[in-house]
Amino acid sequence: MSDAPLLKDTERTTGRSALQNNIQAAMALAGAVRSTLGPRGLDKLLIDDDGRTLVTNDGVTVLESAKVEHPVARMMINASSVQDKIARDGTTSTVLLSAEMLQNAWHLVTQDVHPAVIARGFRMAETYVHEVLDKLTIESKKEHRLLATRTSLAGKGHHSMQVLLSQLAVEAAEAIHVPSPDGNIADPTRVKILPQSGGSINDTRLVTGLVLAKNRIHEDMPRNVGAGKILLVDGGIERRSMNSDMNLKVTSPGVLESFRAKEVELLIEQVEHVKSLGIKLLACKEGIDDEARILLAESGIQAFRRVARSDLDLLARGCGAILVSEVKRAQASDLGAFISSKNEKWAGVAHWIVETEEGGATLIACGSTETVVGEVERCFADALGVACRMIEDNRLLAGGGATHVALARKLRRYAESIPGREQLGAEAFADALEVIPRVLAENSGLDPIDTLLQLVAEQVNGGAQSHHLGLDVVERKPVNAVEKGVLEPYLITRQSIAGATEAAISILRIDDVLWAKQDPSMPETPEME
Ligand code: ADP
Ligand code: MG
Repeated sequence: MSDAPLLKDTERTTGRSALQNNIQAAMALAGAVRSTLGPRGLDKLLIDDDGRTLVTNDGVTVLESAKVEHPVARMMINASSVQDKIARDGTTSTVLLSAEMLQNAWHLVTQDVHPAVIARGFRMAETYVHEVLDKLTIESKKEHRLLATRTSLAGKGHHSMQVLLSQLAVEAAEAIHVPSPDGNIADPTRVKILPQSGGSINDTRLVTGLVLAKNRIHEDMPRNVGAGKILLVDGGIERRSMNSDMNLKVTSPGVLESFRAKEVELLIEQVEHVKSLGIKLLACKEGIDDEARILLAESGIQAFRRVARSDLDLLARGCGAILVSEVKRAQASDLGAFISSKNEKWAGVAHWIVETEEGGATLIACGSTETVVGEVERCFADALGVACRMIEDNRLLAGGGATHVALARKLRRYAESIPGREQLGAEAFADALEVIPRVLAENSGLDPIDTLLQLVAEQVNGGAQSHHLGLDVVERKPVNAVEKGVLEPYLITRQSIAGATEAAISILRIDDVLWAKQDPSMPETPEME
């Protein structure tokens, strides 16, 4: 029976040619980020639809900004995005590993090994690799964590910026870490990044507490306030705006006056309610009208208006407060607590600094121009993500391809013990792991094959700590990566291998691709950002 009538609006590729197309798409994508891997990786200049430019070395940024339609390529991009979300690093490695696994699988498919068998081999290899990875880890001290954070910034910005930002990221992660029964937790979203153009990168610093570029709304309000209660309002203390189609019919003299008087009365009532709560600090998302402003100043409350929702959320978390949408509904249980609240002028700009029980920190990201500040922000966010992961699990692995070479060697030996054709899949997996040292070599202008062979040989002859031998991209020869301080968090490498395997297997399992034909009469749907 033919399925032609059913699928008449669908383009279909099946079997090998579907797999081949998909693998080609994955490899094309890996080709786009290959040259960015490692400290010697090159940058990409990205230009978006509006002509905005961004120079980046970050795999996931390149991929996410590419307008890719191929569904398989999108799957790979997703794997990289997930890696970015979970681990903040290892995004390029994930895509390279996955594409390499697929390429090696294709060689096997052409020799009539079934993709499902290869996928099973991959699964076995992955399980084994996770076991071994555990044993390759080293316990880390603080200085190691610093080095690992710096390694994660490899290729991003210049050396002194990497040193400074990794130091700040490790400090920030420590400032926000909270011990819990399930281990230490550090949530990077609790660190606020405040961009500040002007000055130099070296002015970038970490401040305990939450800092906002805001001034209190009345000079008479106290500049500094000691510990007390805070109210956070997801609205304002202001007159209702008459922006809807509302008509006010003035039928007799005095109506307008009484209307205005009522408005003021409502404002006063709100302020009275605020005062009755006994707070020292008030922050509103929207405005605070003049009458209310004066009354609040008189009662000694420090108040801020037009505070961004994201900042209110951070304050709410730090102070343990609940955002209220209307002032009059606020209750004692909605209030939060703070340790101190200060107004200070930095380089002529007013800043509001709140310290809370729950810690929290702010990075003041400085740089001469907005582009530089943007780079500082991005690098710090990445470094912070990595530093936070290391608070959760402080084990480290040797970088520079050392761990990948060691894993591949052990995996090949293990593969020999697999009786079926899955053995070939496991071997293909081992070969794929070596893509990391190979590309690192390539990007430092070395011959990838010779370098890999040299690395393997040195590891084989290297004794007990031989699995620490990786490529030094500066000296361009194998070195002990741990001694050199080229370290990678265990969680990141583990996640990158797991994510790459997942993506490769799901692509291998596709043997039928059905593309709905676009209806030419349909208007293009607008793109949603
Ligand atoms: P990813 O997006 O995968 O993190 P990167 O461009 O950050 O890609 O490169 C990470 C790789 O570079 C890791 O394998 C890491 O071990 C390696 N690397 C980083 N710094 C060095 C160094 N100084 N020497 C050798 N390899 C390094
Ligand atoms: Mg990286």
